[in-house]
Amino acid sequence: MQILYGFILAAITAYLAYYAHGLNRSGALAATIVGTIIFGMGGWQWAVLLLTFFITSSALSRTFKRRKAGLSEKFSKGHERDAGQVFGNGGLAALFAALHAIYPDSILPWIGFAASLAAVNADTWATELGVLNPTPPRLITNLRKRVEQGTSGGISLFGTLASLLGSAVIALPAALFSDDWSLFPLITFSGLAGSLFDSFLGATVQAMYYCPTDQKETEKHPLHTCGTETVHIRGWKWLDNDWVNFACGVFGVVIAFLAIAL
Ligand SMILES: [Zn+2]
Repeated sequence: MQILYGFILAAITAYLAYYAHGLNRSGALAATIVGTIIFGMGGWQWAVLLLTFFITSSALSRTFKRRKAGLSEKFSKGHERDAGQVFGNGGLAALFAALHAIYPDSILPWIGFAASLAAVNADTWATELGVLNPTPPRLITNLRKRVEQGTSGGISLFGTLASLLGSAVIALPAALFSDDWSLFPLITFSGLAGSLFDSFLGATVQAMYYCPTDQKETEKHPLHTCGTETVHIRGWKWLDNDWVNFACGVFGVVIAFLAIAL
């Protein structure tokens, strides 16, 4: 029965997001699947965390859309999220909700779920709010080197604070619902670590392309916003932004579990 309620809540949320242009058609379908698993197998506390991520990240993308208009070609997709982005951000969280259904007495699926969402939320907040930093960001692999705003792998004070805040917003209800306040710092720092790992991949092995017409580096492939075919310049071709987001969540979970084990 809970699965049915989960499906109804997920389908309504996905439809509203599709209607508001937060998701495209494939993204809405993927969000219905991910939402059904999380709402249906987790429960309302799990739904609150997922919706916190979903609503705050969509709202931030929307708010800063205009401001970032000039930067948007650096990002591979617009603010309408597709299935790849939904699974990249929420696939791991759905896996932990399923594990909770199998091991209902263990706290570990809840911690894994919260850490993965904290990481992707931290990354989204950093991406959306980091552009407000007054000076150009620095490359995470070489902090003395400044890079253009919006460059993958660039970090700034503002972006890092936004990341910490985005992580804390997930960690707060995660601690509240589990009645264990040690989860608040644990999840917050795991999420921050995940988002820094995301930047590290962006600076090193993430697939990057170049638009010969605009003479700019971009994540877009095969075509740039201007319609020109982009050329692969660095990184592993299969490691696109969706896989980097997924890895960001995995890293957050690994840090959380390592911290518990120690
Ligand atoms: Zn171009």
